[in-house]
Amino acid sequence: MHDDRNLVEARLKRVLNERIRPAIYPESVPLEVAVWHAPGEPVPVAEGLAAESEPIAVGQAWGAPWGTSWFTVTGTVPAEWSGRIVEAILDLGFDADKPGFQCEGLVYRPDGTPVKGLNPRNQWVRIGDPAEGGEEVRLHVEAASNPIILGHNEFRPTAMGDKETAGADPLYVLTRMDLAVFDKTVWELVMDLEVLGELMLELPVDGTRRWELLRAVERALDAIDLQDVGGTAAAARAELAGVLASPAVPSAHRISAVGHAHIDSAWLWPLRETVRKVARTTSNMTALLEDEPDFVFAMSQAQQWAWVKEHRPEVWAKVTKAVAAGRFVPAGGMWVESDTNMPGSEAMARQFVHGKRFFIDEFGVDNEEVWLPDTFGFAAGLPQIIKAAGSKRLLTQKISWSQTNTFPHHTFLWEGIDGTRIFTHFPPVDTYNCSMQGRELAHAARNFKDKGVARHSLAPTGWGDGGGGTTREMVAKAARARDLEGSPMVTWETPAEFFAKAEAEYPQPPVWVGELYLELHRATLTSQAKTKQGNRRSESLLRDAELWAATAAVRAGVPYPYERLDRIWKTVLLHQFHDILPGSSIAWVHREARRTYELVAGELNEIIDGAQRALAGDGPGELTFNGAPHARHGVPAGGAAPAAQAAPTVARAREDGGFVLENDLLRVEIDGRGLVVSAFDLRAGRETVAPGRAANLLQLHQDFPNKWDAWDVDEFYRHTVTDLTETEDVRLDGNSVVVRRSFGASAVTQRLTLTGGRLEIGTEVDWHETEKFLKLAFPLDVRADRYASESQYGHSFRATHTNTSWEAAKFEACNHRFVHVEEPGWGVAVVNDSTYGHDVTREVDEHGTTTTLRVSLLRAPRFPDPETDQGVHRFRHALVPGAAIGDAVREGYFINLPERRVPGAAPVEPLVTVDDDAVVVTAVKLADDESGDVIVRFHESRGGRAKAILRTGFPVAEVVPADLLERPTGEPQRQGGEIPVTLRPFELVTLRLKRA
Ligand SMILES: [Zn+2]
Repeated sequence: MHDDRNLVEARLKRVLNERIRPAIYPESVPLEVAVWHAPGEPVPVAEGLAAESEPIAVGQAWGAPWGTSWFTVTGTVPAEWSGRIVEAILDLGFDADKPGFQCEGLVYRPDGTPVKGLNPRNQWVRIGDPAEGGEEVRLHVEAASNPIILGHNEFRPTAMGDKETAGADPLYVLTRMDLAVFDKTVWELVMDLEVLGELMLELPVDGTRRWELLRAVERALDAIDLQDVGGTAAAARAELAGVLASPAVPSAHRISAVGHAHIDSAWLWPLRETVRKVARTTSNMTALLEDEPDFVFAMSQAQQWAWVKEHRPEVWAKVTKAVAAGRFVPAGGMWVESDTNMPGSEAMARQFVHGKRFFIDEFGVDNEEVWLPDTFGFAAGLPQIIKAAGSKRLLTQKISWSQTNTFPHHTFLWEGIDGTRIFTHFPPVDTYNCSMQGRELAHAARNFKDKGVARHSLAPTGWGDGGGGTTREMVAKAARARDLEGSPMVTWETPAEFFAKAEAEYPQPPVWVGELYLELHRATLTSQAKTKQGNRRSESLLRDAELWAATAAVRAGVPYPYERLDRIWKTVLLHQFHDILPGSSIAWVHREARRTYELVAGELNEIIDGAQRALAGDGPGELTFNGAPHARHGVPAGGAAPAAQAAPTVARAREDGGFVLENDLLRVEIDGRGLVVSAFDLRAGRETVAPGRAANLLQLHQDFPNKWDAWDVDEFYRHTVTDLTETEDVRLDGNSVVVRRSFGASAVTQRLTLTGGRLEIGTEVDWHETEKFLKLAFPLDVRADRYASESQYGHSFRATHTNTSWEAAKFEACNHRFVHVEEPGWGVAVVNDSTYGHDVTREVDEHGTTTTLRVSLLRAPRFPDPETDQGVHRFRHALVPGAAIGDAVREGYFINLPERRVPGAAPVEPLVTVDDDAVVVTAVKLADDESGDVIVRFHESRGGRAKAILRTGFPVAEVVPADLLERPTGEPQRQGGEIPVTLRPFELVTLRLKRA
């Protein structure tokens, strides 16, 4: 037989596009349209419905950037449409692509009840099925004219990312506002042809099934009268029924489709718009659930649920009803889908506390699945946190975005720093926006790495990023792929149902140990420095606020600020969302974040000050409050006392123009260029700085990645570098050396101070560069194959070499408070108060192997915020020669938790003390249930074993082991004030202490 395959395939494409799809709506009449453009920010629904509107016609422009327009559409269903399905088609001027990235609408009835959301893939509203004819139609559309930020000219700087710079010119043209007849048979024919046509293209050309599909499609096209598609659609469908009924082969891959809309809590839109995005999507999905009995929808991020509850009660009513029916499913158990690299230990824990608690309180749902499809890599501390929150499974697909290496598994056990293993699934469909195309389903089956031993994968299905969710077309296609020869078998299921099957079929999955590093988006550890500083400062202040408020409550009966701390925690957790803390949102989001972090700091300082004043009492002395987990200057951890004097430092000028700073621990030499040429550890008799090199060296790189400007730094940035060694001034100021430089359009002032065993470096940068990367380098005379950087409840190691492509790809990585390198018996730490990105490399010369640690300070990408990081920034770092890992932990806390001096009468005893510095207390607080119980959380911090006694400074009736949600996990023990604890490496423990 002659091979006419290409001819038939091309014919299918054209006839579908030009004849069959247009016949879905064979008849239409225009609706009357009026509009009211709300001035400024969005208004309540009632106000939008009641507003005085004026006529507007299709073809007219509307929609200033970030504006809201309330359209009212009215009309009458023609009498002759009686008995037919009638829909309104409302096209606000959509770009066919990019649902969620442009204008959107939410349709209401005149009484204010929501109907469904509008986006380019969802422009219809059902009016009658069947219509009677003659119905009066009146609908309202709350339309948001959100600008397209990530357009077809990707990553071009735009002023549209902030309403303050976006201008007022209308962005959209009203395109279609009609009533139309919906021909369901034609629509079903389109679904048949799409499913079979897409499947056909994925099948082997030499296979029988492909040709059977081709011939069936050809017969169907022959059966259609192109001048009467509606009249012949049923006959065409009959030609396809046979191939659609042919069942899947027994070994077919099984796909659990989970209806989903990945909604970024802020990104290319501000937070306030996400509140509306969630309302649109949930309205859409509750409507779809009513129409489609097999469909299941899952929504993550408790914060988004809370927004619906607070801001859109009318939508919330529909959602809670669908949840009760078990088909609208809370997914995951975090407050938001946060970044997991940067959030500190307690913040990462509280993401789960607040997320899980919301679902438990509202719905009685305690999920065991963690849902993070889009987060930019996963720190190795996470498995232990997941387990301590009472969960045990993780889903993400993001690692498929890695540029260099292909992850070897899709279903596996992920082992964290403490040995906790979490059953983990990466959907092989490689997207969280699956739309049930044949290409996607075939890719999932082909791509699945665990074929032969496992058969199930999950596909998050629906438009995401900016929302939209699943469409009726996706549901129709999934139904056809339920049991179809040549296709994976598709079933709508909840995440929990999927995981139960995946676990059951795969009892011995492979194990991946350590972080799940994303080989992409590495610059998210640096972009938008003030957002990152706001996060770190908030985390530190929250620790202090809980500690001192709990101490004041127990010691002085001061009421504990439950409501305020709950609210502030949720604010801080929200800003850890995976486009806010990573710095990848528009200017508007980061401008608001800076302001929010200021308010958070103000309120937390107020709580801390109030608690400390209550504890200090009235007296002539001065007390130093030490919120760090280790004693400092004679003040116990978590207590207050008069502080001892630090060892005095001597500063003197060198003959060559530099300076020497010296105390009994360190002698630091700073040359005339303001660089640290020596940091001599007097106790160990050992030099810290690599021979012939200089530390505290600022280095400037060109930084223009190929894509994703705020997200990415590409490896080639290292090909060019400028050492900033020119100075304007190097001078002694008291016991500090102050260095001033200027470069490009920017200026920097550094203050170097020797305090105890550390050299503190304060860096103030007035930053006005474009597409540059600023690093602070510390070449260290240490030979190390690996280095440690702090993560949640511990640290993890990375190689200093690039033996493998996996190691080479980690050329920029995340730290919390410290990075540490060591030879046996002697190490160096660099600690920071707010930076997360770093790189570590090794040099070999005639002096041997040395290690260079560089801290990432600032970037200047121009997309999506064209003014990213312009202005003044202040950073604090410290070089700690001779630091063991325990010193790195301690110094990291010290630089983040400054001592606070308060006038007072008598020392304050800590609520809890531990007799082993390896055991670090990360939280002391009152229980969230307002019982008055004290919660204390601690962990082994050095990667070894610890045996310690935890002493309480108040009478304790009962000690109850608990999970992160403060729920009991074991039998209560009656003990006095001494609690023996034995910890495995990095082990995390939460205790609930019932007061006597
Ligand atoms: Zn996302």
